[in-house]
Amino acid sequence: MKISFYDTKPYDRIFFDKENEKYGYEIRYFETKLSKKTAVLSKGCTAAVAFVNDDIDKEAIDALNELGVELIAMRCAGYNNVDLKAAEGKIKVARVPVYSPYAVAEHAMAMLLTLNRRIHKAFLRTRDYNFSLNGLTGFDLHGKNAGVIGTGNIGSAFIDICKGFGMNVFAYDIFESNPKAQYVSLDRIFSECDVISLHCPLTKDTYHIINDLSIAKMKSGVFIVNTSRGSLIDSSALLRGITNEKIGGACLDVYEEETEIFHEDFSDTTNKDRLLVQLISMPNVIVTSHQGFLTKEALQKIAAVTLKNISDYSNKRTLENEVFIKNP
Ligand code: NAD
Repeated sequence: MKISFYDTKPYDRIFFDKENEKYGYEIRYFETKLSKKTAVLSKGCTAAVAFVNDDIDKEAIDALNELGVELIAMRCAGYNNVDLKAAEGKIKVARVPVYSPYAVAEHAMAMLLTLNRRIHKAFLRTRDYNFSLNGLTGFDLHGKNAGVIGTGNIGSAFIDICKGFGMNVFAYDIFESNPKAQYVSLDRIFSECDVISLHCPLTKDTYHIINDLSIAKMKSGVFIVNTSRGSLIDSSALLRGITNEKIGGACLDVYEEETEIFHEDFSDTTNKDRLLVQLISMPNVIVTSHQGFLTKEALQKIAAVTLKNISDYSNKRTLENEVFIKNP
């Protein structure tokens, strides 16, 4: 069986190659992302493996379908970039619902600690033999209010981490499924929290959940952490909140226009996303390139579950990680 793999890098190929020793599939790795233009690379393949920033719209799905591809195996949890309606009845879609919530939750806390305690600046200073502490003052997390929006696997892991730091944790979710969480209204998250961390999926309800109106309700100096999906935040509103000093810090592992940018090296180019350039230039913003998932444990599990999904499909077993349309 032949499988096309889009948007792959050396760091994920090694985990898939190791896992594929069990299956012996013929894997065709491509650096390019899956889109209507690159679907043709899947000719002869039964399954196409795709990732967070692939553009799997109706045209891409129709092209894959015409080429005989039967399964789109997402090697990630989110599937907001797949037109499920277009796929229905043509191509099955599977995903890796849980791989390591700790990887992403720990990255969220790592970003928060880095920005709050200015570790990124201290690192650069001491390398330059500059031992000044000016401008490096942070605040204790202990006793501060953390607001967690979305209390699924990652949000719940982040809640546990925040509690370990002695924070008062408030949560908001449309399904109040974590018995250890203290659920409050979204407005209370906005108005009472010193740190707000986003862990809900991108849906029509959560698109730009952080916007001018919600920022206006927030405490002055609030830190916002987004390791979920870029479009949860209206980036222009975020920049306004930072420049008028309402927002004390922003930790961004995702960005709404990241698709063509993240995971690639553009250090030599001058034609850059102006909003991202402005955000990055702020002293109280740190950006990582959608790397929350990037631990050995997560990559190993992603490889194992993706290939198991493909094996389940090809062996006509129940495809337990199939994705269905929830809101037709
Ligand atoms: P999950 O499905 O376990 O949890 C998501 C939670 O969000 C659920 O409890 C759900 O009820 C809640 N939710 C849905 N709609 C909501 C709304 N309108 N308001 C508030 N809460 C809502 O997912 P997860 O594994 O915890 O992942 C969370 C998100 O993290 C994913 O959707 C994905 O976007 C992102 N993610 C990022 C990385 C990374 O590398 N940065 C890796 C994996 C996942």
